[in-house]
Amino acid sequence: MLIYDLNFPSLENKLKEWNEPAYRANQIWQGLYQHLYSSPEQFTNLSKSLREKLAEHFSFSNFKIRTYLDSSDKSTRKTLFELPDGNLIEAVLMRYGDPADFPSPDSGRGVRGEGRRTLCISTQAGCAMGCVFCATGQMGFKRNLSSGEIVAQVMYYAQMLKEQNESVTNIVFMGMGEPFHNYDNSMAAIDRLNDSNGFNFGARRFTVSTVGLVPQIQRFADEQRQVNLAISLHAADDDERLEIMPVNKKYKIDDVIQACKYYIEKTNRRVTFEWALIHGVNDTPEVATKLASRLKGLLCHVNAIPLNPTQGYEGEATSRERANQFKETLERAGIPCTIRMRRGIDINAGCGQLAGAELS
Ligand code: SAH
Ligand code: SF4
Repeated sequence: MLIYDLNFPSLENKLKEWNEPAYRANQIWQGLYQHLYSSPEQFTNLSKSLREKLAEHFSFSNFKIRTYLDSSDKSTRKTLFELPDGNLIEAVLMRYGDPADFPSPDSGRGVRGEGRRTLCISTQAGCAMGCVFCATGQMGFKRNLSSGEIVAQVMYYAQMLKEQNESVTNIVFMGMGEPFHNYDNSMAAIDRLNDSNGFNFGARRFTVSTVGLVPQIQRFADEQRQVNLAISLHAADDDERLEIMPVNKKYKIDDVIQACKYYIEKTNRRVTFEWALIHGVNDTPEVATKLASRLKGLLCHVNAIPLNPTQGYEGEATSRERANQFKETLERAGIPCTIRMRRGIDINAGCGQLAGAELS
């Protein structure tokens, strides 16, 4: 069993079973999530026999590093992990700040610049939602990741960053898969990483991105986590959305927006709408105007990003000029918008693109 699959009470039970004193659970938890130990030998405060037991019963990593790639400016690293059953998943580290301050993540040098260190992690191998522009959607659904497999991606990068006196500042669930289609494991991973006796990662520094599964948005709102919510919208009209996102058959744009209203009422938090700008498809001033009228009065923000072209979809990225025009049209209508530039475009850092390239 992967050790990151344990929550604290089950670790406590395990130690009880082994007739170990209760404080051992705290020591192990702190070793894993505060000291970021990556192997049983590092737990020097435990007895040798307990370390051996840990090694015998648990694995500290269940994936192999299949490949990793750094962007040419070193700001972005993408790692492709192979799971024990052969499935591939990706996790990406994005550093924001002055590129001159980015050493290669394994060069051993510290980073001088301030700035964010954002991790983009996967919740499923593949995805069942079938968005046509998405490399993960194009490969179909393989399986859900366990909570430990989600946590392990974070620990991998946290351990790596620690060697350079750096740490993770933000975690976004925007890698492969639909987090709300693997709701329980995704939330368990957040809770485990959020634990103040462990990794202690603040709820507000997580962002969960969903294709718009309405019942799960409502459940997420009811649970009142202080986690940020992002919705992949990409179209302002139901027919147009259905053409690129099959999920729109089940949940219409109005239903999604209603669910967002509910989330805002419950949490008082701003929702982000994600928008991949596809040339001639959803980047026109008419579309921007329609989007603005649908979002009017909502505590929200639009995050637009030029499409990352993929093999299985003929759509192209919008131009910088049209992206700026889209933003201006929205903002004139009172909807805040940011244009995000594509990170690590030279390393296929788009969602699912590296695994897709390996599989094809
Ligand atoms: N399944 C979730 C989270 C993973 S996808 C979701 O869809 O929200 C993370 C983001 O990347 C989503 O907003 C998704 O729509 C977007 N995305 C997927 N493929 C893309 C592409 N080729 N270019 C730009 N954005 C893309
Ligand atoms: Fe799945 Fe998100 Fe890709 Fe759609 S965009 S196929 S929901 S990963």
